[in-house]
Amino acid sequence: MKKITIIGAGIGGLTTAIALKQQGFEVEIFETTVKFKKAGSGINLAINAMQIYKRLGIYEAILKAGNYTNTIKIRTKKLGLLTSTNLKKIEKKHNVKTVAIHRATLHKILVKHLENTEIKLNMRLKSLAQENGKVILNFEDGTSHIAEIVIGADGIHSNVRNSIFADTILRDAKQVCWRGISTVSIDANHREELNEIWGKGKRFGFVQITKHEVYWYALINKKDFKSKDVNLITIFSDYHQTVKDIITNTPKENILCNEIWDLKPIVNWHKGNVCLVGDAAHATTPNMGQGAVQAIESAMALSISLKEAKNAIDAFNRYQKIRKEKANYIVKTSWSIGKMAQSNNLIVCVLRDFIVKLIPKSVTEKQSKKMFELNF
Ligand SMILES: Cc1cc2nc3c(=O)[nH]c(=O)nc-3n(C[C@H](O)[C@H](O)[C@H](O)COP(=O)(O)OP(=O)(O)OC[C@H]3O[C@@H](n4cnc5c(N)ncnc54)[C@H](O)[C@@H]3O)c2cc1C
Repeated sequence: MKKITIIGAGIGGLTTAIALKQQGFEVEIFETTVKFKKAGSGINLAINAMQIYKRLGIYEAILKAGNYTNTIKIRTKKLGLLTSTNLKKIEKKHNVKTVAIHRATLHKILVKHLENTEIKLNMRLKSLAQENGKVILNFEDGTSHIAEIVIGADGIHSNVRNSIFADTILRDAKQVCWRGISTVSIDANHREELNEIWGKGKRFGFVQITKHEVYWYALINKKDFKSKDVNLITIFSDYHQTVKDIITNTPKENILCNEIWDLKPIVNWHKGNVCLVGDAAHATTPNMGQGAVQAIESAMALSISLKEAKNAIDAFNRYQKIRKEKANYIVKTSWSIGKMAQSNNLIVCVLRDFIVKLIPKSVTEKQSKKMFELNF
């Protein structure tokens, strides 16, 4: 077990590559993208991800390039407070900070830490087959490649997964999400906060990612969706001026618009010498901000399992045992939060806001502990 082939150079694939290299493996990566773009989106790296990056020696670089956040606030449309989760206690316990960062910046840092590993771009995997202990990779350009062990880090629509399992199901959350990076200057009080504002059938979230940039996202229900080019200021006209200022100060051409889907939890994450990591194995809705974070956890657990096990199958079983329960918990909980947060029913929304305000600190702390602590 020396050379490992990774399909996909997203956050999951790159983190897996770095972790495997540190465990002494040789790595090769195939990626469909022709050139990495500076996508208009940010990401909040929660404490569980930052603990992994500390182990991998990338923590300081990420902390320096992003913005420290220490409180998650759920708010009403005029920025009234529904609930606030302070992360300082748990940060102190694990001696790491939460960081919000531009995705492209994180990507650059990860690529830099791979140094001599070549990422073979413009290589789209079509399918794979396993024969006599080898994996045959077939690419869209007609070429093929023989590998020993393959990690599928090719995202929610994974062709690796589709090649080893015929019956996986993607679920439509029936929500549409816009994401952007604004150059607005927000009130200093919000600088270390991750804010999500709940309304009736719509949500808006924002967090500072650098001194001069704010990452934001906006969600509506699919049934209310008309076009990705719709004027978001109109949709959020009843929200606080801060929201409108954030949207106004965002270059339109960099705004992303995606439908929200997840992967119905699957029984196995591996077959033979092929294993899945990140969204390919456990894609979740973004309501807990844990999709990439779970990919990072899986990357580390998989690399440790490969190092410690006698063979690939033993390693993959160990990895799945360590990770599956938590990843599935996130998928399930995130799905439920999305339904509640995005409700279109006024009475449900009033009740929801009332109940959320009453949730005791001990309950949110217990949930945070489950999410942020590592079990390996
Ligand atoms: C609106 C939204 C907001 C989100 N916010 C957060 C957040 O705040 N925090 C968080 O932790 N997560 C968040 N997520 C989730 C997060 O984006 C994903 O979980 C994460 O990107 C998964 O990483 P990955 O590497 O597994 O997959 P991907 O990021 O999808 O990467 C897959 C890679 O594989 C490549 N690829 C795909 N197919 C092939 C192929 N056939 N051959 C070769 N290469 C291929 C792709 O080009 C890509 O580079 C959010 C998601 C959405 C949709």
